[in-house]
Amino acid sequence: MKDFARSFYSSKAWKDCRESYRKSRQGLCEVCLAQGILTPAEIVHHKIEINPVNINDPSVTLSWENLQCVCRECHAKAHGATERRWVIDEEGHAVSVESPTVWIRNRAGGTEDGPRIFPNTRE
Ligand SMILES: [Zn+2]
Ligand SMILES: [Zn+2]
Repeated sequence: MKDFARSFYSSKAWKDCRESYRKSRQGLCEVCLAQGILTPAEIVHHKIEINPVNINDPSVTLSWENLQCVCRECHAKAHGATERRWVIDEEGHAVSVESPTVWIRNRAGGTEDGPRIFPNTRE
């Protein structure tokens, strides 16, 4: 955790906000849920990242509009840790994808007609 955010993350205001938001989402990852996958959310993520300028602005730090329940994996993706992955399209060509949604759906063994993913193959 970054130092400037330490007191915010330990504040009662944030803990209360986080818990009520998490409850409102049934404690599920919203990104996975959009794919029809039920994954417990481990993190309440700020869509607009908290920084030293907005840390005292409750419309950023405590607004439900800016929150998202996510699992660990989706959280890493939300912070731009996108890994390029290769999929094989219908014609047998290798295509690189960055879309976490495709990856997530396939990881969970979702749709039969989705592309096959090779998670350990990097560009
Ligand atoms: Zn997720
Ligand atoms: Zn986050």
